[in-house]
Amino acid sequence: MQAWVIGNWKQNPATQHAVNALVNDLKQTDRTCLAPSCRLMVAPSTIHIAGVSAQLQGSGILCAAQDISAHSASTGAYTGDISAAQAFDAGARWSILGHSERREYHQEDHETLVQKTQNALSEQLGVIFCIGESQQQYDDKQTLEVLSTQLDVIADVVRRLDDPTILSTQLIVAYEPVWAIGTGKVPTVDEVSATHTHIKHTLAGYHNALANTAVLYGGSVNAGNAADFAASRVIDGALVGGASLKAESFMTIAQAF
Ligand code: PGA
Repeated sequence: MQAWVIGNWKQNPATQHAVNALVNDLKQTDRTCLAPSCRLMVAPSTIHIAGVSAQLQGSGILCAAQDISAHSASTGAYTGDISAAQAFDAGARWSILGHSERREYHQEDHETLVQKTQNALSEQLGVIFCIGESQQQYDDKQTLEVLSTQLDVIADVVRRLDDPTILSTQLIVAYEPVWAIGTGKVPTVDEVSATHTHIKHTLAGYHNALANTAVLYGGSVNAGNAADFAASRVIDGALVGGASLKAESFMTIAQAF
């Protein structure tokens, strides 16, 4: 099974100079000690995609967009948007979609995410689809129900695709409890494992092609706790925010998988 360790840089770093420094640090780290099945990816801000992917060319580290337009997969009158085709042309090969920060601050709903996912796939951009419950939902023991509802986006996309088998190579799911993102709080490995088993079962029920979808954990993953998560058979990697902004901690996390 392929493992993925993906750095979500969010709205960081602040300057081009700092972006270059981070990319240089990443390139200089020793990647020979990574498991051969572990693949690395970083998702810089839109404005940095072209530069970062050019600098990472040949390094084996892939580049992802943090978002793409729901309105058009190619071009159009959508001020401020970036399309799947533009992201691909700039060097991105994947896009994070449905991150809880986008759901919260940009009111991304079911139909928007179906559109974005379809647009990405139509331009050969893989999708890292994020799902996760809020603190309240966790406290109310609604986690699995909430995740099933969020995964309905993928069910809808499967129904609308001419060839859903492309999802066997173009889809990664990231389980990120909203209450664990950037807080230092994490669920137990047993809780995450049970949740991932549910996610994998749900995906396999949509289509055979989704039976081996990588399911990553995200939310306060760091160099100190990554090995705990990596020990679970059903945790196929990590989506890392804060700890991905330092090459050393990102690589320590990657080594765990
Ligand atoms: P964090 O963010 O690692 O800083 O908690 C994870 C994410 O939002 O993807």
